[in-house]
Amino acid sequence: MNIHEYQAKELLAKWGVPIPKGIAAFSVEEAVEASKQLPGPLYVVKAQIHAGGRGKGKFKELPATAKGGVRLAKSEEVGLAAAEMLGNTLVTIQTGEHGKQVNRLYITDGVDIAKEFYLAFLVDRATGRVACVASTEGGMDIETVAHDTPEKIRTFTIDPATGWGAHHGRSVAAALGLSGDLAKQAQDTAAKLYAAFIGTDASQIEINPLAVTDDGKLMVLDAKVGFDPNALGRHPDLVELRDLTEEDPAEVEASKYDLAFIKLDGNIGCLVNGAGLAMATMDIIKLNGAFPANFLDVGGGADKEKVTNAFKLILADPAVEGILVNIFGGIMRCDIIAEGIIAAAKEVNLGVPLVVRLEGTNVELGKEILANSGLPIVSADDLGDAARKIVAEVKKAA
Ligand code: GDP
Ligand code: MG
Repeated sequence: MNIHEYQAKELLAKWGVPIPKGIAAFSVEEAVEASKQLPGPLYVVKAQIHAGGRGKGKFKELPATAKGGVRLAKSEEVGLAAAEMLGNTLVTIQTGEHGKQVNRLYITDGVDIAKEFYLAFLVDRATGRVACVASTEGGMDIETVAHDTPEKIRTFTIDPATGWGAHHGRSVAAALGLSGDLAKQAQDTAAKLYAAFIGTDASQIEINPLAVTDDGKLMVLDAKVGFDPNALGRHPDLVELRDLTEEDPAEVEASKYDLAFIKLDGNIGCLVNGAGLAMATMDIIKLNGAFPANFLDVGGGADKEKVTNAFKLILADPAVEGILVNIFGGIMRCDIIAEGIIAAAKEVNLGVPLVVRLEGTNVELGKEILANSGLPIVSADDLGDAARKIVAEVKKAA
C-alpha cells in the first residue's frame, strides 16, 4: 500500500526526520490559505499522486510549455499554480500515458538547495534483509543513474538481529561524500528513517531528493513510502491513509471480495484458483498467441458467491472477449465448482465464449453438470487444450 508524499512526510516527521513545513490542500483557496501559514517568501506547490517524476511531468490539459507537477512559487503565484494543477491529469514517467488526476496538493516551504542526494530503504529479497541505497546523484531518476553510472550508487544491508549501528550511519555519510556536521546529520537522519521503516513495517522508503540547504541543513524534500500489505493488520492508523482513488477501481472492487486480481491489457479473462496456476494459465494463453485480460486467483475455498463476483469483475472489462476458467478441485470438489460456474454464468448473463477446464476431485461429475447445463460452455481436458479452445472460440466470435 502506497501513500501520498504529504502523508509520508507527516509520518516521517513523527519519527524525527527533518522535513520542511508543509500543509495539504484540496482546493485553490486551501492552497492559498496554506501558503499564508508558511514562512515564505518562496513556496513549493506539489501535485499529490502516487507516482514520481512529477517535477518533469506534463499536464494533459495544459500547453506543452506549461510547468510540471512541482512548482516553485512566490506568494502571489500559489493560487495560479494550484488552479492549473487541481482536477487536471498529470503524466509522468511513472504514471503511464493515461496519467493521474490531481485531487490533492501539498504546499511546502521552499528551501534553497545546495546539493541533492538519494537515500532509500527497501526490502532486499535476495538477502532477506532491509537494504539501504545511497547515492550522490539525487533529484533525478535513480533508474537512469543505475543504468549510466552504477558506481555512484552504494547499497548495503542491515542484519535484522543487530539492527542499525553507528557503522551503518558512517557508510551512508561516506556514500554521500559528507563530512563534519553534515555527516552527523546524515547519520542521524538515516538512523531515524531505518527506525521508521521497521516501526511501520514499510516495504519502501525512498527519499529523492535528500537535500542540503544553503544554510547547511539536511532535509527530506520528497518521500515515497509504501507498506507491506500483510502487516497492515497491526497498523490501523496507516490503513486510514489509503487513497482508493489512486488504485485501479477493479482491483479495489476485487479486494472487497478477497479476490487477488490484477488488471492486464489482453482480451481473455482468466478465472483460476491458486496464484501458480493463474500464472501458468496466463503463460499458456500467450503461448497460443493471445493475451490475458487479467490475473485472478479466487483462492482455495472459492464458493458460488466468490465465483459470481469474479465473473462480474472480469466482464466489467470491455476488452474481454472470452473467459477461460481453470480450476483445480482439491479441497473444493469439481461438482460444487461446476454448479457455481453455472449459477454465476446465468446471473451475469454471459455474452462471451466460456471455456472451462476442471481437474481434481469429482471431475467427471463436474463435467457432466456443465454439459447438462444447457449453457454454451466449452469443456476442456487439460491446460493446453483449454488455451487452444478459448483462443479459437474468441477468433470464431470476432
Ligand atoms: P518528483 O519529481 O515527483 O520526484 O518530485 P520532487 O518532490 O522530488 O521534486 C522535484 C524537484 O523539484 C526536486 O528534485 C527539486 O529539485 C525540486 N524541489 C522540490 N522541492 C523544492 C524546494 O523546496 N526548493 C527548491 N529550490 N526546489 C525544490
Ligand atoms: Mg523526487
